Amino acid sequence: MKFLSRGWKKTAAAAAALLLLSSSMFALTGCAPGEAKSGASSSAAVQAEGQLKPGTAYVKRDPSVTYSVPEGVSVLMFHMIGDIPNNAAVETEANLRLQMNYLRDHGYHPITMQELYDYVTKGAALPEKPVCITFDDGYLDSYTIVYPMMKEYGFPWTLFLITDDVGKPYNRMTWDQLKEMADSHTVTIANHTLSHPKLHNLATAKEKEKEIVEANEALKYHLGIDNAWLAYPYGDYDDQVVEICKKAGIKMAVTTDSGRVHVGSYPYELKRVYIGNDISLARFSERLNKDNYTPV
Ligand SMILES: [Zn+2]
Repeated sequence: MKFLSRGWKKTAAAAAALLLLSSSMFALTGCAPGEAKSGASSSAAVQAEGQLKPGTAYVKRDPSVTYSVPEGVSVLMFHMIGDIPNNAAVETEANLRLQMNYLRDHGYHPITMQELYDYVTKGAALPEKPVCITFDDGYLDSYTIVYPMMKEYGFPWTLFLITDDVGKPYNRMTWDQLKEMADSHTVTIANHTLSHPKLHNLATAKEKEKEIVEANEALKYHLGIDNAWLAYPYGDYDDQVVEICKKAGIKMAVTTDSGRVHVGSYPYELKRVYIGNDISLARFSERLNKDNYTPV
């Protein structure tokens, strides 16, 4: 949830108009975006080993996959995976597997943060039936359950990590485990702040800056990551937080506000689509495709 002014809206609308204009110009000249084509996009192209950026997911897709500019993309939001009764947001491993089976069996193509960024800001083409998979916080199950499962399906995903929680005894990962994940290039590891506060509640800009900048520094120090992506804890932010993100090299940030993202969406307040045990497969399917999906 955003606090304070909404001054960005004008800029976002202008950007969307520009994007629309430029995509129609492309259409006139007969080249992408907007035009379906085959083959991996440049950002998805598999680079030579050693050129891969640490902590960044790369995906090798079948060259027959068709690319086009979709009407919208669902950025799926997951948290903990496990068995905690009466907490629908903690999804069971069995339900996660059912959903990943659904994606595979229905021809969905999970995309990376870079692909999402290129889509939102430049109207870049995406593989058919795109979806973006994100997990917040950095629970141990992101290493023990999610990491091997996504590898098995060949799905790139993104982990938004609370860096000060790494190594804590209860249900958290170690930096060694994160390093293994970062070096696998199957997951993008990104910023979910140092300690997971409600950012707009922090008294000073300095405190907000510390949460964002020092988490980026931890990602760089421990994992070698030059991070450009962030998830606001509790989806909570304000204009000052967005300015701090921009200065810290964050290019795109996701909220917990419910909805899908589109070409021209303001990259510092991208909506996400909640997924949990209370989302049946029928509702899951709806959430992959429809802007006005049924609320929980
Ligand atoms: Zn969180």
